[in-house]
Amino acid sequence: MASLVIIGAGLAGAKAAEAARDAGYPGRVVLVGDEVHRPYERPPLSKAVLRGEAEPDSARVHPDGFYDDHDIELVTGRIAAVDPDARRFELAGGEALAFDRAVLATGAEPRRLTVPGAGLGGVRYLRSVDDAVGLRDAIRASSRVAVVGAGWIGSEVAASARQVGADVVLVAPSTVPLQSVLGDRVGGVFRRLHADHGVRLRLGVGVKELRGSGAVEEVALTDGTVEAADLVVVGIGVTPRTEVAAAAGAVVGDGVVVDQYLESGVQGIYAAGDVASAWHPHYRRNVRVEHWANALNQGAVAGRNAAGGHEPYERLPYFFSDQYDLGMEYVGLGAPSDDLVVRGDLDGREFVAFWHRDGVVTAAMAVNVWDVVDDLREIVATGRPVDTGRLADEDLPLADMVGTRD
Ligand SMILES: Cc1cc2nc3c(=O)[nH]c(=O)nc-3n(C[C@H](O)[C@H](O)[C@H](O)COP(=O)(O)OP(=O)(O)OC[C@H]3O[C@@H](n4cnc5c(N)ncnc54)[C@H](O)[C@@H]3O)c2cc1C
Repeated sequence: MASLVIIGAGLAGAKAAEAARDAGYPGRVVLVGDEVHRPYERPPLSKAVLRGEAEPDSARVHPDGFYDDHDIELVTGRIAAVDPDARRFELAGGEALAFDRAVLATGAEPRRLTVPGAGLGGVRYLRSVDDAVGLRDAIRASSRVAVVGAGWIGSEVAASARQVGADVVLVAPSTVPLQSVLGDRVGGVFRRLHADHGVRLRLGVGVKELRGSGAVEEVALTDGTVEAADLVVVGIGVTPRTEVAAAAGAVVGDGVVVDQYLESGVQGIYAAGDVASAWHPHYRRNVRVEHWANALNQGAVAGRNAAGGHEPYERLPYFFSDQYDLGMEYVGLGAPSDDLVVRGDLDGREFVAFWHRDGVVTAAMAVNVWDVVDDLREIVATGRPVDTGRLADEDLPLADMVGTRD
């Protein structure tokens, strides 16, 4: 019997299995994951789960019974080896899984801090639901939390920790949070947001060393100062988990290199989600996206294509974040050095930001402004220049902005 094996039972893998079945794939569908939990979504882990407001298993991708009902075999275990010629995966326990088609949805793992003392007790990372549960309890038991890294994970963890009453210091080499995505001006909104909520910000400095006897007690910074902390949460980015892809003979760069149909150079092996570096027709280059919507939608396309379809993946990158009372959505792929236009009230944290190059909008972000993301997506997707003066004018509807300049 034909067999589709999906490696990685996260959001992308689970959606690939669902989509393959929906597309009528007639053979075995096997979903292999090395976590003991059924496929779940990660965004709540740094938000409601960390604050103790949601149960850890509240974010399952599918309801109970779904996998049985759709004849999807769930296998718990880690794929440790691949025989590309025999088209066979091998689980760490030795069991073999033959495949005709495969989807690699192995995701990414947190980058580790490498400074002296990084192995001390009380130094934690956040990727899995088990990490989140451990961190939730550790935050409550700690007297001071140091968050290292002011990207999305670091910023959300700092916010959630403050919201449950922890004393929080946020340490990062950038001068504002999220600088590498949002740049200085919009990143400054997040700096003020955290400061207003009582986070102590130590920006523009790195971590030199973690000190303590057995467990962490101090964070020594590169400027010679020291911050006390009995819990350190590290959020300094992720690395795609490409080992299986490399063993299968796929080209691996920053992720598994796939074409716009999400197929790797090895026929019948696809990749989706955080691990995939996919050719993007809009950008005319390979793009790897570490966000929820990409895992959701790319997983489904990979599943349909593995089942015999031929569908390009063309969606623009999209992500969201919630910190305190600030909710935001971002669409596109801007550079912090792109020109910025703001529509609305930056200081009041209710605005839409546009990044553009010569009037061509590369990305747009809505902060506490809702139901505009479809308009923003269209403005970015056309790739045609707009009149940037009009962009800033709140009296003009966003829907009228598309291609307003020749
Ligand atoms: C705490 C947190 C909060 C987030 N919040 C947001 C947010 O607010 N907005 C947003 O847009 N995005 C957010 N994200 C990002 C989003 O969750 C990810 O982009 C998404 O989880 C990627 O899904 P994936 O299926 O590609 O990979 P993953 O979710 O990483 O799943 C991959 C799975 O494959 C397994 N695996 C890896 N190798 C093997 C192997 N050899 N054998 C078997 N199994 C293997 C892994 O253990 C894992 O279970 C957040 C991420 C985290 C961690």
